[in-house]
Amino acid sequence: MNQLINQAPNQQKLNQQKWNNWSGYQQSHPEQILKPDSLDELKHIVQTQAKIRVVGAGHSFTPLVSTDATLLSLDGLYGVDQVKTEFAQASIWAGTRLFNLGQYLEPMQQSLMQQGDIDQQSLAGAVSTGTHGTGVGLHCISGYVQAFELLTASGEILHCNRHENPDIFAAGRVSLGSLGVLTKITMQNKPRYKLKEQVRLCAVKDFIQNIDQWKAQHRHIECFAFSHADKLILKTLDITEDEIQPRTESWPSEDTLLTLCCELTKSFPALNPKLQKLLGVFIKPSTFVDWSGKIFPTPRETKFNEMEYQIPVELGVECLQAVLAGLKNSKAQTFFPVEFRFVKGDDIWLSPFYQRDSISISVHQYYKQAPRQLFDEVESILQHYQGRPHWGKMHSMTATQLKTLYPKWDAFMQLRERLDPSRKFLNPYLERLFLSE
Ligand SMILES: Cc1cc2nc3c(=O)[nH]c(=O)nc-3n(C[C@H](O)[C@H](O)[C@H](O)COP(=O)(O)OP(=O)(O)OC[C@H]3O[C@@H](n4cnc5c(N)ncnc54)[C@H](O)[C@@H]3O)c2cc1C
Repeated sequence: MNQLINQAPNQQKLNQQKWNNWSGYQQSHPEQILKPDSLDELKHIVQTQAKIRVVGAGHSFTPLVSTDATLLSLDGLYGVDQVKTEFAQASIWAGTRLFNLGQYLEPMQQSLMQQGDIDQQSLAGAVSTGTHGTGVGLHCISGYVQAFELLTASGEILHCNRHENPDIFAAGRVSLGSLGVLTKITMQNKPRYKLKEQVRLCAVKDFIQNIDQWKAQHRHIECFAFSHADKLILKTLDITEDEIQPRTESWPSEDTLLTLCCELTKSFPALNPKLQKLLGVFIKPSTFVDWSGKIFPTPRETKFNEMEYQIPVELGVECLQAVLAGLKNSKAQTFFPVEFRFVKGDDIWLSPFYQRDSISISVHQYYKQAPRQLFDEVESILQHYQGRPHWGKMHSMTATQLKTLYPKWDAFMQLRERLDPSRKFLNPYLERLFLSE
């Protein structure tokens, strides 16, 4: 395993430590937080502990990893184990953080096919919730998993791919840590590539009129739409051979402005429409070129909570318009824009993109403001458009509702029961999500 400095400075082996997620909204007091440095140590923990939740980087907004029992971090298991250069594949230890992957993959001339908005997640954490970026031709990260190794409740390591344990492979690529501990993941990568990022303002009506055409012209396209403004922020990324033009930080930075606007609108909600309309003054068209791993992530200093649903692609634009109209008339204000992205369908049983090309729509609330009222209002719109929730983002769906959205729901639950009959890997949240009517 490769050595690495600063993989995760905050993780320690401490008893009764308080744990919280990135936004601070989810908190728990695990009896112990364990961080094994070897596979043998990990196996011993799994065989001896009665209740375990595995944590990645703690960047999910839902209480997926909250526990008062053992919290298990794979931060000690990182790096690239094996590489198949001719196929651009790499077998990666599950605890590797995405921001560290570059140093392992770049010497092999490989990069991830696709990434989301940030690169703080662990590989296993990103895979386990179906973390995605944007692009009509691109799956979520889990869609590029070629194989994985799963440490089950009995202490056995299962090798899973399309030929070996194919059912566990179909279920385990998005499994919320409920089938066991992913130890190693083989990713289908792409020869190292540069991306050109272009950001500009665009009239909402032009976006609505042209998005069907534009989505086919760019490898990645997304927009950030404000409910009170008639312009949105349009962002595209495309593969390029151009010279590097590194991202430069403007002053004041986008994040500084965002924090300022969130603070102002929290205290004076009536300012929200005015500030959103002023957007054009601050957003200047920009173009940057860099290696993909540097272009995909955006610094996210302003903390928030988030809800996101995946809508069938043909309903996505109409749903966006309904969400924006709902937010405009709502008493629950947020300064954050609505994010709109494309994700290609896949064959993973609990993937929100299962057999469905989708448009991902997400709503954010500043972390100092209670998110529920806003999310409740928007959630009913997203559900009306047949939305499936992002597993790592806030939602209120129950097993009964989810079952109707996931054709393989029962098959997944039966597999989970077979692999973990004593429910070692379930916490109260997952018991409710999976098992309650
Ligand atoms: C600022 C911010 C930006 C974000 N941007 C995006 C985005 O652009 N696109 C997107 O789709 N999502 C995004 N997310 C959501 C985030 O990508 C997911 O919630 C992701 O799962 C978090 O990864 P993590 O490593 O923090 O995992 P955690 O949140 O710690 O865990 C997530 C799940 O993975 C499981 N898990 C972790 N490690 C293992 C393992 N070794 N074996 C088995 N199960 C395991 C956990 O048990 C849990 O169920 C964002 C979140 C934040 C806070």
